[in-house]
Amino acid sequence: MSGVCPEGAIVQINKVFSIDQDKCTGCGTCFNRQEYFCPVRAIVKV
Ligand code: SF4
Repeated sequence: MSGVCPEGAIVQINKVFSIDQDKCTGCGTCFNRQEYFCPVRAIVKV
């Protein structure tokens, strides 16, 4: 998962992944292909 984001905005703390909003540019890579990156579609766009 950490290699998905071109900005390095996806970080893992213990067993939980989160998105650093200061680094995220909203490119959509993780969201648009989340069926591949996240099988339970836990990435939400707000
Ligand atoms: S939208 Fe793009 S920049 Fe933001 S976390 Fe996803 S892959 Fe990274």
